[in-house]
Amino acid sequence: MDLNELFARKEELLAVSIEPHDCEPQLQVRTRVVAGGHRHYVKQCQVCGDQRGGPLSKASSVLLLRDNEAPAFDESIGSIRREGMRVWYAELKDVNGKIQEILDPDATRLVAEADRKVDMAKCASARHWTASFRH
Ligand SMILES: [Zn+2]
Repeated sequence: MDLNELFARKEELLAVSIEPHDCEPQLQVRTRVVAGGHRHYVKQCQVCGDQRGGPLSKASSVLLLRDNEAPAFDESIGSIRREGMRVWYAELKDVNGKIQEILDPDATRLVAEADRKVDMAKCASARHWTASFRH
């Protein structure tokens, strides 16, 4: 990818990443089994998968559900979203790194060298610490 393509990809990534949402209209009553096997009625956002608020009282769950059965809390919504975020962030970091490399190869090399020296210093002091500890 050349610089223009990298910038275009970065724009795309930044555009899709920011998708703020209001959990409130997306909340649905779900049953969630907690430690000890107790079944609670909770509100789950169907976009991010988060639970909002604590367990519902019997009265409010009856009121919200009317005569419907509440489906089980869907753990996959949150994990799919988190995995998506992880992949997105990794690519953004990669694209940023490639842009940096093209724009300023010297700075990129210096940063990499400095990182390596810091790592070596950490190793050296860890060795020293281990050695003096053994004595
Ligand atoms: Zn949400």
